[in-house]
Formats: sequence, C-alpha cells, structure tokens
Amino acid sequence: MKRITLITGGSRGIGAATAKLSAKAGHAVAVNYITNADKAEALVGAIRNAGGIAMSVQADTGDEAQVERMFDAVTTELGPISGLVNNAGVHGPRGRLEDLTNDEIQAVLRTNVLGCFLCARAAVKRMSTKHGGSGGVIVNVSSGSAHLGAPNDGILYAASKGAVNSLTIGLSQEVARDGIRVNTVAPGLTETDMPSKEALEQMGPQLPSGRVGQPEEIGEAIIWLLSDAASYVNGANLRVSGGRI
Ligand code: NAP
Repeated sequence: MKRITLITGGSRGIGAATAKLSAKAGHAVAVNYITNADKAEALVGAIRNAGGIAMSVQADTGDEAQVERMFDAVTTELGPISGLVNNAGVHGPRGRLEDLTNDEIQAVLRTNVLGCFLCARAAVKRMSTKHGGSGGVIVNVSSGSAHLGAPNDGILYAASKGAVNSLTIGLSQEVARDGIRVNTVAPGLTETDMPSKEALEQMGPQLPSGRVGQPEEIGEAIIWLLSDAASYVNGANLRVSGGRI
C-alpha cells in the first residue's frame, strides 16, 4: 500500500523530524504549517532533493473549513491519505491558572483539542472502510504533562493533552473495525522551540536519562506506530521520555 502521511505542525520540531523520517521510510508526506511557510517549503525541498515525495499545506488545524480544505488538497496532490500525525500544538502561557485569561484558555484548547478532533474526524471520514476508504493510522501527539498536571506552569496545556489521551482511548476502539488504528505518543522534554532554553538546560540533567530528547527520537516512535510493524498496536500511549514517568 502506498503510504501518504499528513503531519500537522510539520514545519518545525517533532513534526519536521517526523516528516523527514516518514519520507525516508517511503511515505509521501504532507507538511502542514500555520505561519512558517519558509520552513515548511525548505523541508519539502530537502525531502524532494533526497528523492522523496512531499508537499506543504497551510492550515490552522483549529479551523474546520481550513482542515477540510487541507485534507482535500493533500488527497488531490498525493492521493488518499493513509496516515495522520496529529502533532500541531501550542503550550500557551506559563504560570498559574488564576492568571489565565478566557482568550488564552480558548486559544490552547482550540489548537490542542479542537484541532486534533477536527483532523481526526477528517481522517476517519476518508480512511474508514465504512466510508469506502482503505483504512489507515492516526498518531496523536500528547505529552507526559497529561498525567503530571504541570502545576504552576501549564495546567491548561496538561489538561489539553489529557483530552488528546482520551481521544485516542475512545477513537481507537470506535474505528478498530473500520481498518484504522489510533495511538498516542507522549513525548518527554524535547529540544524544540516549545520549551524555553532555560527549561531545557535546567531539566535535562535532572531527568532519568540525564538529558532531554531530540525530535528525531520522538519521530522514530511515531514512524513505528504508523508502520505495519505495529499492526496489533491500537489504543496505546507510548511514552518517549528517557525514563520520566
Ligand atoms: P514546536 O517546535 O513549537 O512546533 C509547533 C508546530 O505546530 C509548528 O510546526 C507550528 O507551525 C505548528 N502549529 C501550531 N499551531 C498550529 C495550528 N493552529 N495549526 C497548524 N499548525 C500549528 O513544537 P514541538 O515541540 O515540535 O511540539 C510538537 C508536538 O509535541 C506538540 O503537540 C507538543 O505539545 C508535543 N510535545 C512537545 C514536547 C517538547 O518538549 N517539545 C513535549 C511533549 C509534547 P508554524 O511553524 O507554522 O508556527
């Protein structure tokens, strides 16, 4: 089966690393971004130069019309989507809950929760054998914060990732007989633009592994879950954190 994989938030960090690894594994890759067209285009260029198939696609994953347009554009250019990596995410403000504004709360939930739901729904509608599709795989990128809770730093972010975990648990069972597997990858602290430089420097040595993760180390887990090697893995939450619980 030809693998056609859409990676939301593929322009940077974990998504970009996953896009490169997917292309190396033979997938045709759609690299979604919201604002960083240059980075997405550079990544697509690098994949093409290495002999791979890739396209970039702009869309805000928290916008229903843009999500549907993105899935249609990828299907038209690359073919029927067989894999979705629900990776686009934002951390939002750091600090205590009582300092959050209504708009800040809505912005994080919009990308991290609504965005994952809209993309998962769009994928299921196209992949499900009940809707004439050929099946597929969804990998939701969550975070260990979901069970750590992140007090004083990011309860909002943590709670949004708790929703992502529940999405995987329910959807994996709902669509198992539609030919679709759904799993979660829960990264630990990973060197991308999301954590502050100070957090990366201070926390790294305190982790069981003694260091933070690299985006490629998360991407490898995602690629495995997308592959047939994980054909009986469904509803799992794979923590990739260098030993942090
Ligand atoms: P990152 O480096 O900040 O990259 C975020 C990506 O998401 C960018 O490609 C960005 O696009 C895209 N994006 C943000 N909002 C979007 C929206 N509304 N629509 C479409 N794309 C959007 O983040 P990262 O660290 O790679 O994080 C990737 C995922 O891993 C996130 O879900 C994050 O919560 C999770 N995670 C990260 C860590 C960590 O320590 N880094 C730990 C646990 C979990 P632009 O480039 O266009 O802005």
